Amino acid sequence: TIFKSSAYYSEVMRNLKRVFRLENFRQNQLEAILAAMEGRDVFVLMPTGGGKSLCYQLPAVCTGGSTKGVTVVVSPLLSLMTNQVAALREKHVDVLVWNSETVDHGDVMRRLRGYPKPSLLYVSPEKVKDSGALRSIFGDLYRAGDLARFVVDEAHCISTWGHDFREAYQCLDTLRKDYPKVPIMALTATANQIMVDDIKDRLKLSNCAFFKQSFNRVNLNYLILDKKVKVLEDIYNFISSKHRGETGIIYCLGREKCEKVAEQLRRKGLRAKHFHALMAPAEKEQVLQEWQSDRIQIVVATIAFGMGIDKPNGEASHTDYLSGLTTVRYTVRFVIHHDLPKSLDGYYQETGRAGRDQQPADCLLFYSYRDYKIIIKMINNPRNGEELSTPEARKRQEQQVRNVVEYCLNVSDCRRVQLLQFFNEKFDRRQCHQFCDNCSHSVEMNEHDLTEESKEIISLAQHLHSLGERVTLDHCRAIYKGADTAVIRDRDHNRLAQYGRGKHLDNELLEQLFKRLCFLECIDEESTLGKGGWYVYYLKVRSSLLCFHFGSHADSFKLGPKANN
Ligand code: ADP
Ligand code: ZN
Repeated sequence: TIFKSSAYYSEVMRNLKRVFRLENFRQNQLEAILAAMEGRDVFVLMPTGGGKSLCYQLPAVCTGGSTKGVTVVVSPLLSLMTNQVAALREKHVDVLVWNSETVDHGDVMRRLRGYPKPSLLYVSPEKVKDSGALRSIFGDLYRAGDLARFVVDEAHCISTWGHDFREAYQCLDTLRKDYPKVPIMALTATANQIMVDDIKDRLKLSNCAFFKQSFNRVNLNYLILDKKVKVLEDIYNFISSKHRGETGIIYCLGREKCEKVAEQLRRKGLRAKHFHALMAPAEKEQVLQEWQSDRIQIVVATIAFGMGIDKPNGEASHTDYLSGLTTVRYTVRFVIHHDLPKSLDGYYQETGRAGRDQQPADCLLFYSYRDYKIIIKMINNPRNGEELSTPEARKRQEQQVRNVVEYCLNVSDCRRVQLLQFFNEKFDRRQCHQFCDNCSHSVEMNEHDLTEESKEIISLAQHLHSLGERVTLDHCRAIYKGADTAVIRDRDHNRLAQYGRGKHLDNELLEQLFKRLCFLECIDEESTLGKGGWYVYYLKVRSSLLCFHFGSHADSFKLGPKANN
């Protein structure tokens, strides 16, 4: 009600109904709109689907306040631009586009130079960066006072802290200097505090109005499972038992994997197709169309967006298709991560594509320590043609993957508490309503001090190593647990001093402990090419110095709940 006193309130309400045919605002929309109309810089942090576009589209069609002239919207996604422009034209809003697909930019230029000016102009960052013609038009508009506002959509692309940094976005850091009187609005669905500060800093936002709402996605069920050799069977069973005939996305780390997984699922009778950045545009288009018309049930995709497959100077079209996946008519009911995601914000975004209709949806991640090591390797040994990033960037990327592993290995704290922590949001576990694996666990996890056990396991590993015994991690665990199997008896492993010392630990806890010790690099696996071209993973021990160094991570080694929620 305090907003009613705003000079712009009645015009805003009128246009909400008349132009957008909506009845009321969602959280933070009205606040952001009024701040924009007052001529302030505005930062809107809102989850995907929250209604960010209205925040700049509505002021753009108003005439009061700081809205005279053209609102320039910088958007990284061609398909998103196309969708939005079509939707606006349907509402009789005067809107222009200028991106790599614009055939007749002479026409766009004429419209921008003449009168009446369009309300909105959608441009790609690449055009802002490279097109002298566009820059000169900006200059003309600016001098005539006909630039209403710059809108930077998907603003996280400007930050190198994010997982989808876009080179062309860097040119936006001169907007403030070149057009000092034009307010800027930045919008994103994914940014933690570091990224927010970075974005504000780069765009030179001053005294900006900041709006943020909960990032909790109430209808998403988060589940983490261990990735076994038969992961594909697990995926198939999951889909056919819980999501028969429903639409979903499976994310894989590489394009070969995408193709293989899609192929294997097809053989099992599921309508699946792969999708990755290296496909021909026509092929992508076809998959997208089949998906949108529900002829394909599952798309097996890479997380290519932001993975460094940036085409120099090109508008990344793979990005567009991925975003197109989210506009599918048949809502995504499940998102499966076949491989470990590279960052938690990437994971949040990818899982966020499920359940856009607010109905329950599943987000299943298959964890494996081997994936972690593969990603670390990828960061430090990029494939041919890809540039090695700076040491600082690599460190950051490594830390991001480690955060994902921490997330997966934490089996006691609510997934939401953990995820939202990344966005600096405090979340009350009770609000999860048991809609994540850790909350729906029937047993309460207590804290265990496993310092002694850890030492025993390491000494067992060292002992096996000194005997020249090649064993797998699973085998080592079986010895420690005291399993009575033929293999153990045949190899005399039941005579080792550490045999059976871990009997008192239940299997789940023991598994946790081994996973942790791997992650801390106290013990490790190394692969050797075995018979038939399969890799065999053998136990490997680090130098004794390193092994006992887990003491530096924590004085004692404890497993159990961490967050105080
Ligand atoms: P975002 O850009 O944050 O992902 P969009 O701007 O695309 O979200 O909006 C998502 C959906 O919500 C759209 O279908 C839009 O029409 C709808 N929407 C936005 N604001 C409102 C509102 N105030 N009332 C009803 N629907 C809305
Ligand atoms: Zn929970």
